Amino acid sequence: MSREIVPVLTIAGSDTSGGAGIQADLKTFLAQGVYGMSVITALTAQNTQGVQATAEVTPEFLAAEIDAVFTDIPPRAVKIGMTSSRALIETIAAKLQEYQAAHVVVDPVMVATSGAPLLAADAMETLVERLLPLAEVVTPNIPELTRLTGIGILDEDSFCKAAVRAARAYGTAVLAKGGHFTGREAHDVLALPDGTLRHFRAPRSSNENTHGTGCTLSSAIAAHLAQGETLTAAVAGAKAYLTGAIGYGLALGRGRGPLWHGW
Ligand code: PLP
Repeated sequence: MSREIVPVLTIAGSDTSGGAGIQADLKTFLAQGVYGMSVITALTAQNTQGVQATAEVTPEFLAAEIDAVFTDIPPRAVKIGMTSSRALIETIAAKLQEYQAAHVVVDPVMVATSGAPLLAADAMETLVERLLPLAEVVTPNIPELTRLTGIGILDEDSFCKAAVRAARAYGTAVLAKGGHFTGREAHDVLALPDGTLRHFRAPRSSNENTHGTGCTLSSAIAAHLAQGETLTAAVAGAKAYLTGAIGYGLALGRGRGPLWHGW
């Protein structure tokens, strides 16, 4: 094989049902042609119907996981998903700074589609203060963007305004995901800190087996950035991949089934 296979890391939570979290990230990495590694922040007992229990690792154990990876196989990009609590966010931020991690993609995971909290109520401020300054891009969905900006998002106008406000306020690129809208197109916008906007549209799939879409998109962006693409190209490539994975989403379980990565 002549192409170099680059290592990429996900720091996120485990989903027993294999649809979201670490499991989605590793499947995405393989499908995108990169070598996947994983640092687990929390275990979830979870299926397509919801999250039944969660168990966080200690900050000390999380630090040991991150050290093990970075001192041996330094990743070319890092995706951050479920961070769970303030103490874990502090550990992640300190370690990413220590190792000068490149191409950090932050998915500001707050609540699962089922309604289960994946981030402690008091942890958003820490995420904003400690992780967003390290991010090359942040990927909020509409409820997350509302919490980050205080802007109620009712239409595409307020959606774009909120994305620009977040990018300016946090000094990082913001990919706002419009998947919660109900139009014929899945419309995402990439706002840059200078206020410019790029639009990404794909036909909306009628497949309702969408468990793990946010995880898949952010890990695909990390995989593309690791391979040297510009942010715009990485987002376009990741969205094209996500559109395929949703199209092939599997009717498994009693709730919204998982995406399929092996078509
Ligand atoms: N479980 C874990 C561990 C996650 O990291 C995430 C999302 O990032 C979810 C569940 C939520 O997935 P969904 O909203 O598709 O149910």
